Amino acid sequence: MEDRDLEKLEHGNPILEVAVELGIKIKSNTGICFRSDRHADVPGEFTLFFDLAKNSFFCKDCRDVGGNVIDLVCLYRGCDREKAINWLKHRIEFDLETRELYYQKNKKGKRK
Ligand SMILES: [Zn+2]
Repeated sequence: MEDRDLEKLEHGNPILEVAVELGIKIKSNTGICFRSDRHADVPGEFTLFFDLAKNSFFCKDCRDVGGNVIDLVCLYRGCDREKAINWLKHRIEFDLETRELYYQKNKKGKRK
């Protein structure tokens, strides 16, 4: 995969949106770690931090939980990088399709 494509993938998949879609509980730009059963802290604490500018994340309690949006999908779903990339690609395509549909509907629906 080319760098350009990866960039497109990152831009089309804001990390917070992806996290919500995966089922991670979010509060502003923090979330509950999906490996929180390993935490020393009380489970249910918001230890995941999302960097929206960098489209990255990390858990303050897990050394091995963190990275970019692709890593998030890999770690969460326990799949390899290629599968995660495919999942994110489909996500963008689906998004574009629905946006297009919505736009068309809007155009048709205008009555004035
Ligand atoms: Zn954690």
